Amino acid sequence: QAKVSGKTRHEVFATKMQEQALAYLELEADLRTAIANQEFELYYQPIVSLNSGTIVGFESLVRWHSPQRGFVSPASFIPIAEETGLIIPLGKWILQQACLQMQIWQAQFSHCQSLTISVNLSGRQFSQPNLVEQIEEILQITNLNAQSLKLEITESMVMDDVEEAIILLNRLKALGVRLSMDDFGTGFSSFSYLHRFPMDTLKVDRSFVSNMSKSVKNQAIVTTIITLAHQLEMDVVAEGIETETEMKSLQAKNCEYGQGYFFSKPVDREQATLLITKTLQ
Ligand code: C2E
Ligand code: MG
Ligand code: MG
Ligand code: MG
Repeated sequence: QAKVSGKTRHEVFATKMQEQALAYLELEADLRTAIANQEFELYYQPIVSLNSGTIVGFESLVRWHSPQRGFVSPASFIPIAEETGLIIPLGKWILQQACLQMQIWQAQFSHCQSLTISVNLSGRQFSQPNLVEQIEEILQITNLNAQSLKLEITESMVMDDVEEAIILLNRLKALGVRLSMDDFGTGFSSFSYLHRFPMDTLKVDRSFVSNMSKSVKNQAIVTTIITLAHQLEMDVVAEGIETETEMKSLQAKNCEYGQGYFFSKPVDREQATLLITKTLQ
């Protein structure tokens, strides 16, 4: 029973491990050249006011068009970029690109002055010792107002070392940038710490939004998260709104903003510019 096609289970397992390790190394090597070869592109997903239907900002979402692999989802390459440290140069490029794009939109369209650009930070970027200086420099280089930049941070990033995270978040706030708690409710439950983090916005994770229709209890969870955020003086963005029913339900719960396929999928720079000219003018 220990033999599978002439090999022991252990040998089969070891071969699998080697294959996985090799695949990982190849992906890492491709990722390394991807930055130099400019294979990354930012997509932008509108964040919409649920009351007025107008766009209040965009979240930037990185895309990798690999000549060898085709389209690679950030969910699969961001973790490897994290582990290998490649997220540091990639993250810097993303921040710079996103800030530059928002500055261009603001310079191009007078009605875009209050739009924000939300940029996802990764754990490793967050623990970079010079993060605050790097962001300050990027704002200078791109000439973007600090209040137009919103950094998306997840619970797990701040729960590693709560005290240190609070200090860092306050330093970022002092720059004038805004902060969002991303994917709220999915990771560590930071309920008891939430009031200590200087967040402007809480993003309700898509899983809560898509579960809402399933039961009254799921509705209650969303209502509670929104109420909690408001009592802590944060506004709320609901992620992953796909239907009008979800949108209406969130609106009724006094959720200010929403994001999701119901409004728009993440789109490239040209399409995002088109959305701006169509819906804001
Ligand atoms: P996230 O920050 O929570 O981003 C939201 C994800 O939900 C995006 O997936 C977006 O395309 C997707 N989404 C938006 N609306 C809907 C909807 O209505 N239905 C469904 N099913 N999905 C929706 P994406 O772009 O594949 O990114 C996945 C994750 O990868 C992001 O989750 C974020 O954690 C990470 N990521 C993406 N871009 C970056 C980046 O530039 N830097 C870092 N550090 N992480 C990034
Ligand atoms: Mg995000
Ligand atoms: Mg999110
Ligand atoms: Mg999410």
